[in-house]
Parts: sequence; C-alpha cells; structure tokens
Amino acid sequence: MSDYNWCHGPECHTKETQSRVRGSGDNKVLRTIKIKEGGSYRTHERYHMFNYFCGNTCLFDYLRLHLQEIIAIAPRREALETPIKVEKEKYESYRYEWNSGPNNDT
Ligand SMILES: [Zn+2]
Repeated sequence: MSDYNWCHGPECHTKETQSRVRGSGDNKVLRTIKIKEGGSYRTHERYHMFNYFCGNTCLFDYLRLHLQEIIAIAPRREALETPIKVEKEKYESYRYEWNSGPNNDT
C-alpha cells in the first residue's frame, strides 16, 4: 500500500503555487499535490479527509463536482428527530396592578 495520496481536488493541478511546480526550463508543469499519509498534524487519523485533500478549497471543489453522487450514497429522505426533555418551569406569577383599584380607576 502506498503511503501517499494525490490530492483529489479536481482543480488542484491548476492552482499556481510554488509547491505545485515541477520540471525545469520549458517543461515546467503544475502538478497535483502529493499528500503523505500521516505526514502532517492533520492527517494522523487514518481516514482523515486531509489524507485525500490538500486543503479546504480542493475538498469543496470535489464536493461540488461530485455532490449528487455523494448524496446518493446516503440520502436523507426523512427528517430526523432527537427527543429532548422539556422541563416545565414552575414559577409564581404576581400581577401588579398599578394605579388601579376600586378608588383609582383611570
Ligand atoms: Zn489539492
């Protein structure tokens, strides 16, 4: 098993950064970022998404491009609900009536 992945961002190889430049002279290219598994603090989890994407931009480019297929893997057809406990608050209610009363009607 290889210990690296190529970034899965569909536009990764088009972004102009020094880290993507390969080759020399007239043969320079921008190349997809190679991600070493476990090579950065973000990738220590084996299935961490940044083992497959060099950053948020590439991750979201990928999601945008493949959104329908990804949603099809686990579609949400109904709303979910989480039961919560609503505690009824007991409180005394006092009603103050200012300037009212049998002798002070306004
Ligand atoms: Zn990338």
